[in-house]
Order: sequence, then structure tokens, then C-alpha cells
Amino acid sequence: MTIRSCWVEICTRTLEENFRFLLTLAAPHAELMAVLKADAYGHSITLCGPAVVRAGARWLGVACVEEGVAARALCPEARVLVFCGAFPGQGAAVVRHDLTAVVWQPWQLDELEGAARAAGIAAGSVPVHLEIDTGMSRQGITPENLGPEGAGVGALLGRFTPESPLRLEGVMTHLFAADEADGRVTEAQLGLLDEALGKVKAAGLDPEWLNVGASASLLAGEAARIAALGARYGMKTMMRPGLALYGVIPDFDPQFEPQEPPSMTAARSQLHPVMQWKTRVAGVRSISAGAVVGYNGTFVATEPMRLALVAAGYADGLDRRFGNRFSLLVHGARAPLVGRISMDMAVVDVTEIEGVEPGDEVVILGTQGGETITAFDHAETTGTIPWEVFTRIGARVPRVAV
Ligand SMILES: *Cc1c(COP(=O)(O)O)cnc(C)c1O
Repeated sequence: MTIRSCWVEICTRTLEENFRFLLTLAAPHAELMAVLKADAYGHSITLCGPAVVRAGARWLGVACVEEGVAARALCPEARVLVFCGAFPGQGAAVVRHDLTAVVWQPWQLDELEGAARAAGIAAGSVPVHLEIDTGMSRQGITPENLGPEGAGVGALLGRFTPESPLRLEGVMTHLFAADEADGRVTEAQLGLLDEALGKVKAAGLDPEWLNVGASASLLAGEAARIAALGARYGMKTMMRPGLALYGVIPDFDPQFEPQEPPSMTAARSQLHPVMQWKTRVAGVRSISAGAVVGYNGTFVATEPMRLALVAAGYADGLDRRFGNRFSLLVHGARAPLVGRISMDMAVVDVTEIEGVEPGDEVVILGTQGGETITAFDHAETTGTIPWEVFTRIGARVPRVAV
């Protein structure tokens, strides 16, 4: 047996095409960083890293230093930005693996400076991107705390002296409501970013990159507006799509639909899902009326039925809340999951589907015949978002390139 009977197929060619399409939305305003955090949103950084580089990505985005080290090993030429920065003790790995950390707290600068000095690195040769908190209250420094008048934290910009091994290469922020139609939140965030950039310039610093905007902003056609802000400060713009790269379009505020921008309409036809998640029928049986199915007998047959056992359970990421509430695809038709999902298996009703046999392929996420199950279908059933659907697929499920 070469692979377990529950696996994920990754079409790297589709990923490359998605990246190239997103480049057309960014051009000529912005460069694109391919976001590969969380094992490429569960799609496997091993498969996806080299593919996005082939498609032209020069920058990769990851969450933590550990992911950065993995990205570096796979993509020796790419720039790798670590969104959550270096934790205490990780500065040496940042320097050794040529990663670029996001910074916003003085201790992070201490950590990186210490590591750079220990490695005997020349002044200005460890690039960092400074995160501005423009309203999300997650990470980043607020424009208010950035000014020279600010005590303590306000001294952050003063750390980038000509003698420092660190160099302020970029300024970034995260737009937290880019999927809201009226754009008021984004407008306010860009206003605060503008204020922060003014302070960076006033401190005599000259960062090269303005690093702003994820899938939603890129698809909404915001590249030009963000780039106009960057251009005012002589900065190049970089955007950071994740979800769209994997072929899924974030849900926008419904008011957005009637006057959908052309970039979004184009994306609907040009982006395609990179992942299909599959399993196989492990056995087929008939049950009589009155038989119960699964733990605690939450499903009771009211008539004779045919059931197929499938080789995927909640340990593979098949959400336990799918029990009695979701269907999988068998022979191109929807087969309802009956009873509770077990750790390693689940049962579907194939009474209405002819000729199901052990070994038949079952689609959990993807297309079979004329039917498709999307990440949104999963997310709606379990009350979450496609990002979480992808990242919850179990580590034991092999990702195979197709
Ligand atoms: C995850 C992430 C992104 C990508 O977001 P998508 O909505 O998936 O495009 C961009 N920037 C940062 C800082 C992130 O953490």
C-alpha cells in the first residue's frame, strides 16, 4: 500500500496558475508574497513552496520561525517573512536561515541584534519589517507610540541607527475588515498607516516596502489604492494573499455583490481550488429497519438501507459535527453521513447509489461527477471559515501532488 486510504491531492499546476492570475491583479502596483503559513493552509509547504517559486514568487510568508526554517530549506532563493516574529532564543535561527522577522517590540530588536552581533554580521544586514497596529489590537505598534515624543516604546525607531545590524526594510499592517463592502474600516486603517509612515520618514528612515493587504484586498482591487499610499513615501508595495492562492475566494459582505469590481468577477472564473480531499469505501453492508448506526445509536434506520464504511474519521479532520448533517460524494452523488463520526471512520448511506463497492473513491472536499463539495460547504455546516477547514485536516493525512 503506497498511501493510506484517506489522502489529500494537491494540484501544484493549479496553484501556479492561481499565483500567476493574482499577479495580474497586483500588476503594476504591487509585488505578491505567497502566504504559506500553517503548512500552506494544510496544503503542504513541501509541495506548495517550490510550486509558487516556479510561478514567480520571490517572497514567502510564514507564521513562525519553525515554518521559516522549513520554507528556507525548500526555497533557498526566496525571501521569507516571519509574521509573528522571533521569540526569545530564536534570533540565531532567523540570522542563520536568512529569515526576515516582523518586529514591533523593543525586546524583539534586542533578540535579533544580539544574534546578529554574535554571528559577526555587518551593520544594516539583517532586514526587518515593522508592524503597525492600525486598529486590530493584535500585533504591531500604534502610530501614537511610534513618534519621537513617545517615551519607552516610542524609542523603537531610534534603534535603527547606522551602526545597528538591523535594517528597517519594510513597514506592514494587517487589514482586518477588507471584506466589508463600505470600506470604512480599511479607510481608517490606511489613515493610521499614513500617520505611522510620516513618523518613520521623520525619523530619517527610508524603508523600501509597504507591506499591506491579504486576499480580500487584492481581490477587491485595492492594489492601486495601497500602492498610491506607498508611492507618496517612495515605497514599493507588497500584498500577501493566502486563501486566494489556494483557489478560494473569501466571502464578501453581501452588499458588495451588485457592484462587484471586475477583479472579483475575473477571480471567480480564473481561480480554482488546489486541494481535493478523498477517502475510500472500506466495506458495504445492508441493515434492516430498526438498526442503529454508530456510537450511541444516534441514527436509526426506518427502512432497510445500504451503508458504506469510509476510511476517514475526526482524527483525519472529518469534523465530528458532520454526523447526521453532511454528505460525501460517492459515484458522483451525495451520500449522507449517518450516525456519529468515529475517530478513524465514518458511515454513509448509499441506499440510493448503485453498485458501491469496497475500494471506491469517496470525495470529502472536491468534485466527483457533476457534484462539488467546497470548503464553504464544510465551513457552513460547522460554523467556521474555509481557512480553519483547511488547517484542521489531520497531520496523518498524506498530501500527494497530482
Ligand atoms: C494569514 C495572513 C495573510 C493571508 O490572509 P488571507 O486572508 O488568507 O489572504 C496575510 N497577512 C498576514 C499577516 C496573515 O497572517
